[in-house]
Amino acid sequence: MIVDVVVAAGGQGRRLGGATAKQWLPLGDRTIFERSVAACAVSSRVRGVVVVVPADDVKDAEVLARAAAGGKFLGIAAGGARRQDSVAAGLALVPPDADVVLIHDAARPFVDVPTIERVIDGARTCGAAIAVASVHDTVKRVEARDDGRWIAGTIARESLALAQTPQGFRRDVLSQLMTAMTAPTEATDEASLAERLGHRVLAVEGHPDNVKITTEADLARARRALGGSPLPTTRIGLGYDSHRFADGRNLVIGGVPVPNERGLAGHSDGDAVCHAVTDAVLGAAGLGDIGRWFPDTDPAWKDADSLQLLRDAFARVRDAGWSVGNLDIVVICHRPKIGRLADAIRTSLAMALDTTPDRISIKGKTPEGTTALEDALIVHAVALLTR
Ligand code: MG
Repeated sequence: MIVDVVVAAGGQGRRLGGATAKQWLPLGDRTIFERSVAACAVSSRVRGVVVVVPADDVKDAEVLARAAAGGKFLGIAAGGARRQDSVAAGLALVPPDADVVLIHDAARPFVDVPTIERVIDGARTCGAAIAVASVHDTVKRVEARDDGRWIAGTIARESLALAQTPQGFRRDVLSQLMTAMTAPTEATDEASLAERLGHRVLAVEGHPDNVKITTEADLARARRALGGSPLPTTRIGLGYDSHRFADGRNLVIGGVPVPNERGLAGHSDGDAVCHAVTDAVLGAAGLGDIGRWFPDTDPAWKDADSLQLLRDAFARVRDAGWSVGNLDIVVICHRPKIGRLADAIRTSLAMALDTTPDRISIKGKTPEGTTALEDALIVHAVALLTR
């Protein structure tokens, strides 16, 4: 069974934080939006995540969503005027082979895996399911009169539940829902559309912590729940690569052409230093690895200039708010001697990484006493990012 999730952050809700829509406010080391995307992607039963954001935020949000969803990012849609228009735009990007689709509100960053999986099971068996929280307080009906608000009765709380998200729908129900979303009638959530269409909607147990962050008090409570952890200002990443020497190839190390009888084999120009450094900076920023952005199955990267790939990768890292604290590289090979190339490589990498050569170190190691590594060049790189 294939399950995808649409994370809806199409709203411009600015009740919190003034000029910033609430989904972009930080909660610990990430935004509310990133936490919600990551919380949905973490379930092993979820194949992919589509996000919906305000049209103006699509470009920036894609970087965040890709990183937060791990390898599960499916697409990003621009939100519409109403909640249901935004959700419909997201649903349009869900691949047709999804059997069950969950819709989750990006303002609920604390959703837990058991809740997600109860909704998946409920939707699969009943067609439509929604996470709900029990009501523990006694619920009163109040009437406002001239002289104040007065209790007009007590409602049996057993008959009440608070709607949360995710809300999940099987493919057959979803198709009808998508048609209903385009209608002028407005719905505050997708389950109510399903109810209106005559579907039975199963209520599954949500989690009391799966709160919606709507007010300043909600945000303060959420930050307290995280222990008020401050934004980390440094992150570390490790990169590794190895390439074999081959005849008829030009040798490029760290973007520097090196006169040599042989070069390094590879789909790109074989520049293992650039590849290891790319992985180190992407890893530090939590943005995956070189294969994710520049797959070697893609003919576009055949004989690619790896220094340019590093520049492109670092642009994503920089967009996520990071710069290079320092970078340390070890190159293991018999030939060429790295020492005499070090300054040129440091300068070349510094330019690609918007930094200065003094923050970059490169050392050569000869695999002493072994001929096993005669035909290879091996690179280890550690990057420290700061913000
Ligand atoms: Mg490589």
